[in-house]
Amino acid sequence: MNANESRSGFDAGLIRRYDGRGPRYTSYPTALQFTPSVGAHEYEQNAMESNARALPLSLYVHVPFCHQLCYYCGCNKIVTRNEARVTRYLNALHREIALQGALFDRSRQVEQLHFGGGTPTYLDPAQLGDLFRVLRQYFSLDDSDERQYSIEVDPRTVDRNRLEELAALGFNRLSLGIQDFDPRVQRAVNRIQALSDVHTLVEDARRTGFGSISFDLIYGLPHQSLESFDRTLSRTLDIRPERLSVYNYAHLPERFKGQRMIREADLPDSDTKLAILGRTVERLTDAGYVYIGMDHFALPDDELAEAQRDGSLQRNFQGYSTHWHCDLIGLGVSSIGSIGNVYAQNTVSTQDYEERIERGELAVAKGLSVDSDDQLRAAVIQSLMCYDKLSYADFNARFDIDFERYFASELERLADMQADELLERDSDGLKILPRGRYLLRNIAMTFDRYLDSGPVRQFSKAI
Ligand code: SF4
Repeated sequence: MNANESRSGFDAGLIRRYDGRGPRYTSYPTALQFTPSVGAHEYEQNAMESNARALPLSLYVHVPFCHQLCYYCGCNKIVTRNEARVTRYLNALHREIALQGALFDRSRQVEQLHFGGGTPTYLDPAQLGDLFRVLRQYFSLDDSDERQYSIEVDPRTVDRNRLEELAALGFNRLSLGIQDFDPRVQRAVNRIQALSDVHTLVEDARRTGFGSISFDLIYGLPHQSLESFDRTLSRTLDIRPERLSVYNYAHLPERFKGQRMIREADLPDSDTKLAILGRTVERLTDAGYVYIGMDHFALPDDELAEAQRDGSLQRNFQGYSTHWHCDLIGLGVSSIGSIGNVYAQNTVSTQDYEERIERGELAVAKGLSVDSDDQLRAAVIQSLMCYDKLSYADFNARFDIDFERYFASELERLADMQADELLERDSDGLKILPRGRYLLRNIAMTFDRYLDSGPVRQFSKAI
């Protein structure tokens, strides 16, 4: 451990040295490789073939609407109060559920369900109730305690009654967009939510039976300082959510119009961001959270930490997730599914989405059918990002290869990282060392065969 390194292995100098743009590997290959070669027809065929494998299902439902714009936002969302627009979208979503539901055997249970956005709780109880009625009509939803049904909640839109309605529908996990508790930061990003309201909401959620509550925080927002974020961390630790994601704000005003409302002069510099990240790691690990990897932390008895221990953790489009064995169906505009060896993404235009569905077609606009090399590399990246290690023998048996020969040039390119003690390599395999855990994507990038052919500029930086 050098003088700059903390007990957790967080080394600010090293992170600065390796900082650069790179994928977050919520999939491999990344969505940048998707092309129109996978459309509705290919998706349909692949979906029907998947019934022979009879894997359980995971559903992602995208609700793109928000009442108000948060200036930092880079999501696919529609800020509107136009009810007709919402009704049009919901009608299309109902039809898409019917079209997709017809492709999958009813015996395949939906073990995992996630409502994301936008703001899913933009929908009123009747609209959400209708959506669930249609989901239940076409898919076998799981009513057992083992189900993981989560919803992203804007704390400004939900009270105790609303929580009870969500629980009655079947949700048992909540994800709250907190970002920062500091009123000055909240004003600068146009997202004002009182600490007391969040406290009350979490207490009510626990009383209502929500098993795991997750907070999103963002560092790099205007007016943040090490001291101000430290206070946000203290308030977060008082509430002690089961999971925490702490993201870096990527300021890209040329791509996201709303970000032009943020004054560049108010943003913390990279030294401050790095100090905030270091303090976050230190405080959360001191408070008993397990660092899962790539911005995610969980209490040791949370399912995410358990999945990391028992080998069922995976990276997917929501970050880290359990239930690695499910086929994932994306419903709604821009949503991404992953079925067998095929990724498929719905069109990102709401108008296009509604028109395609209106014509009775699926809204798949692009995707990728992964080849055996992609599958192998995806498994390598998954192993490193989820479990911090990789066994040659496991890969040789699973993929019928000689790992060291297949990846000879990649292993050679890891030499500098080995010298920097990010990882260890011996005759059995690779092992990520504590200081390498904060540079997982740099290590994973060594195994990405597409990086040279694509514009790395499109990816975000760690700091
Ligand atoms: S951050 Fe969430 S609530 Fe805010 S505008 Fe973006 S999607 Fe909507």
